[in-house]
Amino acid sequence: MTLRCLIIAVQTMILASAAGLEAAQAERIWVLNESDPVYCAWRRDIVHSRRYRGRYVRTFAFRPLKWAEYIMKPGDTLQTVAVRLGISVDAIASASGFVHVHAASPGDRLLVPNFDGINYRSTSGVSLAELAAKYDIPAGDIRRFNGYQRDWLPSGGQVFVPGGTMSPLEQGLFYGTAFSPPIDAIVVTSGYGYRSDPFSGRQAFHGGVDLAAPGGTPVRASHEGIVEFSGWAGGYGNLVVLRHAFGYRTLYGHLQRRDVRVGARLARGAFLGAVGSTGASTGPHLHFEIQHHGASVDPARYTTLHRDRPAAAPVF
Ligand SMILES: [Zn+2]
Repeated sequence: MTLRCLIIAVQTMILASAAGLEAAQAERIWVLNESDPVYCAWRRDIVHSRRYRGRYVRTFAFRPLKWAEYIMKPGDTLQTVAVRLGISVDAIASASGFVHVHAASPGDRLLVPNFDGINYRSTSGVSLAELAAKYDIPAGDIRRFNGYQRDWLPSGGQVFVPGGTMSPLEQGLFYGTAFSPPIDAIVVTSGYGYRSDPFSGRQAFHGGVDLAAPGGTPVRASHEGIVEFSGWAGGYGNLVVLRHAFGYRTLYGHLQRRDVRVGARLARGAFLGAVGSTGASTGPHLHFEIQHHGASVDPARYTTLHRDRPAAAPVF
C-alpha cells in the first residue's frame, strides 16, 4: 500500500467512526427477499427486537447492534422497504438521516439497523435521563444496549434508542400533516420556488405560497405556537410570525387585520387575523410561508395544501 493510499484509508476510517455507524463495515442487503442471506439475518434479528417494544424487561437479550446498507431501487419508498424488513420507518429514516417521508428516492443509501428503534443524534446538553423520558424507554436499557458504563451520553455521537419511536409531532412533520391550511377554500395562485416577480418581472425566489381569498377571510394558525412578530414588515405588509417546536416558523403576510399580540400562545386553528392586500400585493391574498431554522421550506411538503401531492399515510 502506498503512503497516499494509507492516508486515504486512515482518513476513511476516521470519517467512518465519526459517522458512528461503521459504514465501511456495514453489510449489504442486495434484494429484499429470502434469496438474500443478509436480508434473512436482519429479518430474524428485527423480529426478535420487536418483542422488546413496550415490555422493558431488564433481562431482554439484546443482540449486538449491526448495520446493513441498502440502495433504494426504482419503485422503493421508505415505507415499502420498512414493510419488507418488518422494521419501522422511524428506524430506517432516523438512521439514514431522512427527516421527511418524500426525502428518500431510488439510488439513495439507507442504513438499516438489526433492531427496531430510533437512531438519535446526540447534541450537547441532552442527558441520558432526558432521552429516556423523551422516548419512554428506561435509561438503563439505553445504556445497556449501547454499552455505556455510566449514566451520561458521549457528546456529539449517536445513540440508538431500542424500541424508540417518533413522537406524534415528529410523525406529523415527517409525513407532512403537521401544519393545517391557514384559510378555508384555498386557491393557490402562486406556488413555492422561482417565479417571475409580479412587480419587477424578473425571476425571483418565492419563499411561500399565495392563497387567494376575499379580503376579510379569517386566517388561522397552521400549527400551535407562540406569536413572535405582529406588525408591519415591508413587502409582507401586515405580518404575523408564529414560532413552533423543532425550529419551525410560519409567516402570514399581506393581512388586512392582525388580531394577536407578540408572546400570545395560539392553538392550531386559532384566528390570528384576516386576509388583505397590504405591502407588495396586487390583490387580496394570503402569503403563507413555513420556515425551518430560518430557511423557507416547500409548504406542500408539510401541509395538505396541494391535492396533487397528498401527504403519504403510514402503511404499517
Ligand atoms: Zn407570496
